[in-house]
Amino acid sequence: MEHYVCEGCQGASDTAGVCTTPACENQGKDLGACNCEGGTASHGKESTDSSAGGDTPAM
Ligand SMILES: [Zn+2]
Ligand SMILES: [Zn+2]
Repeated sequence: MEHYVCEGCQGASDTAGVCTTPACENQGKDLGACNCEGGTASHGKESTDSSAGGDTPAM
């Protein structure tokens, strides 16, 4: 489903808004819309984490 992601810290939110992470360089800036499929934490970006072990459903 569609969600919103901060380009700085990759923090995701179900609703549109701004980043509220104090240490993030994009704090206070608009989140970007993302509609990637669930199961990944990279929001469409390449991930080289080979230790995850596969496609175990979250939840
Ligand atoms: Zn952020
Ligand atoms: Zn995403």
